Amino acid sequence: MPALEHAAPHTRLAALPSLAAGALVAALDLVFPALCPVCTAPLGSGRRDPLCGPCWASIARIAPPCCHACGLPLGPPATALQASGRPGTPIVCPVCVVRAPAYDWARAAARYEGTAREALHAFKFEGRRALARPLADLLVEQCGAALPADLAAVLPVPLARERERARGFNQATLIGERVARRLGLPFERRWLVRVRATAPQSELAAADRSANVRGAFGASPEVRGHHVALVDDVMTTGATLSECARALRAAGAVRVGALAVARVI
Ligand SMILES: [Zn+2]
Ligand SMILES: [Zn+2]
Repeated sequence: MPALEHAAPHTRLAALPSLAAGALVAALDLVFPALCPVCTAPLGSGRRDPLCGPCWASIARIAPPCCHACGLPLGPPATALQASGRPGTPIVCPVCVVRAPAYDWARAAARYEGTAREALHAFKFEGRRALARPLADLLVEQCGAALPADLAAVLPVPLARERERARGFNQATLIGERVARRLGLPFERRWLVRVRATAPQSELAAADRSANVRGAFGASPEVRGHHVALVDDVMTTGATLSECARALRAAGAVRVGALAVARVI
């Protein structure tokens, strides 16, 4: 077919039956072995490209029970506090009982340590964009089953314009796009925007982070009446996610949840 002869290589690869494409990837791996961006080992069995099997398996995943409000893992159910005595009510950690975050719920897939931390660093600071795929999959596989049924859309936490320009991408957008696709939800990248520049949160003490991002976001009226989930790569104090949630609520969002690949514990 003449059109195929001139197609770009990836188009031709995509057009191959999956068995043949798999064989081609295997053959390419023999000539140019794919190396894991975290440990530099060749990708072997159990690989979650571009992560090798052992790195994928070593991620410190967060398992329930977790605080419904902030995603903090709470250990064995017997030690978890109930917000009320009624069975079936969400479990909330002592911090959130005293002062709940501005978002309605939060889930994180892994502890921000070890492999998850190294993979997120390679993704953001070494430009290893292919890591968006396993990191988004991690989020969906750990948190997807427990998500509310009335979610209307997934939104990325917007990155400061200068930082996105310098990095070439917004990590929350790359992860959020895949999360939304896997959840079968619309991805609305324009419903929340930065309206002013802020200093990087990572350079500030926890106590200064809320003030740094106050009033930094604006939301579209399109969010009115919807329950939406924000996606970010790392959740530290939750100050940025809280400020995003305030902006979305001010624009009429009925509920706002937060999803992070990793959480500082
Ligand atoms: Zn590895
Ligand atoms: Zn909490």
